Amino acid sequence: MIPRPIKSLARTVGLTRPRVAAARMACERTTLALAGPRRALPGGRILCYHAIGQPECGVNDLTPGRFRHQIELALRLGYRFVPAATIAEGRGEPWDLAITFDDGWHSVLGAAAPILREHEVPWSLFVVSGWLDRPGTGPPGVLGWREVEALAAAGAEIGSHSITHPDFGRISAEQAAEELEGSRSAIAARLGIRPDSFAIPLGQSANWTPAAARAAERAGYRIVYAQAVETRPGGTVGRSFVTYFDNDLVFGALLGGAYDAWEEWI
Ligand SMILES: [Zn+2]
Repeated sequence: MIPRPIKSLARTVGLTRPRVAAARMACERTTLALAGPRRALPGGRILCYHAIGQPECGVNDLTPGRFRHQIELALRLGYRFVPAATIAEGRGEPWDLAITFDDGWHSVLGAAAPILREHEVPWSLFVVSGWLDRPGTGPPGVLGWREVEALAAAGAEIGSHSITHPDFGRISAEQAAEELEGSRSAIAARLGIRPDSFAIPLGQSANWTPAAARAAERAGYRIVYAQAVETRPGGTVGRSFVTYFDNDLVFGALLGGAYDAWEEWI
């Protein structure tokens, strides 16, 4: 417990909890980058983004300029962009990269999609079906069904990210089944395709259980995406989360595996 005078002083100088956490994350990312590359992944690497130009998403937001720069840098370095499923199914090569987005933020349509189209990069979007069903109950700034339909028609793979974005480490097996099955049917009813991939909300190893894994399989998902490659739960596919702090040094280290045992904790 922080004493009240210190708390109000901290507030006055702008030391809010999210800012302190963000500063800590920036330090961690840079320290790990300076430690040097760990290992390339023989079957390719799947990147996970959230928002592109929505500062309200904090550490999960990148400016459009930085996002474009990362795509172009990866291409210059000789990487090739492939669908996430290619890597998830073990058909990738060491120089393969895939792009995924979680949550369905509005900027994915306005800022990211044009950059990806320009560079002919395939990509996947994991949506929270309840946020699309009832705009206003999800966080402000997320896409609606019609926009997701347009993205699907333009070639984006649409996968599920649950109905309400719960922590699967803290809900019952019945609730997990409902989230997994309900979101899959909602996407199928609206888009006419049954998604076979699911991205775990929050994505850390603590946010998934063996019961949730069984429910995902029963619901018909073939691929479950998690977070860090080395700490992901068994049976899931690892992804590298890209954050606000990822300048060229950090992004280059990320491609070399610097964060394969690091989980974003915000
Ligand atoms: Zn999410």
